[in-house]
Amino acid sequence: MYSCPFCGYVYKPSEGDPLNNIPRNTSFANLLDSWTCPGCYVRKEAFKERKNEVPKFGIQNKRIDEEERNFAFPDKKMKKAG
Ligand SMILES: [Zn+2]
Repeated sequence: MYSCPFCGYVYKPSEGDPLNNIPRNTSFANLLDSWTCPGCYVRKEAFKERKNEVPKFGIQNKRIDEEERNFAFPDKKMKKAG
């Protein structure tokens, strides 16, 4: 699953991208190199692969957030409240 690091758009192969005339069931790898994010027009190359699904409503996957934050800012690990 690929998501845009800038606007948060998530490309869903099962839905394709109607705004760019991408039919359903088109995998991200099969998108044209000229394809751009329908949200902010960033190029395909900038998209990042995510291995986990986007959290469903109401269920925040906090663990993923912390992992990403630690990856991005290794010196700023969250302190436990208390
Ligand atoms: Zn975007």
